[in-house]
Amino acid sequence: MTLPIFLVGARGCGKTTVGQALALAQGCQFIDTDFWLQETAQQTIADIVARDGWETFRARETDALKAVTAPARVIATGGGIILSEYNRHFMREKGIVVYLCAPVAVLADRLEAFPEEGQRPTLTGKPISEEVSEVLALRDALYREAAHHVVNAAQLPGQVVSDIEAALQLARA
Ligand code: ADP
Ligand code: MG
Repeated sequence: MTLPIFLVGARGCGKTTVGQALALAQGCQFIDTDFWLQETAQQTIADIVARDGWETFRARETDALKAVTAPARVIATGGGIILSEYNRHFMREKGIVVYLCAPVAVLADRLEAFPEEGQRPTLTGKPISEEVSEVLALRDALYREAAHHVVNAAQLPGQVVSDIEAALQLARA
């Protein structure tokens, strides 16, 4: 694998979980833009948003995306990375973009089961299933626009990895 693989999708679709497993299977490096950004800024995303606002956070997210993009990497992106047309084009041009697609009910169940893993501040202040539904309605078309491949992320992580490998015609190591 030479081109970077960008995983896009809503919070809870499994970008981090599946990305780590895919990187392991392919013997390449795993990078999470959210994690990279927080390590580099020495601040949580919630703190960045609270202090400097969403616009500043989005600008830093684009910087993070550009900084981590390199060959032989699996890159898990933040759920809102596709809001920027620049980011969508950047990922499509520099690598292979995979949309981990899962229904609202699956996403809401995962986020409710593991709330501590949701590092992002709530986007709307509404109950989780309502928020997931609204956010996905706005973003689904953008995930699809950015993606070269759409994979069913409601399956077990190992199956999602296999489907990505099949879509990308990557032989298992
Ligand atoms: P993201 O990085 O896209 O926000 P995560 O990988 O952090 O999503 O997953 C969110 C939660 O859902 C985690 O608790 C994770 O263990 C769980 N999870 C992720 N993918 C799957 C899957 N395919 N099947 C079941 N649970 C999953
Ligand atoms: Mg993640």
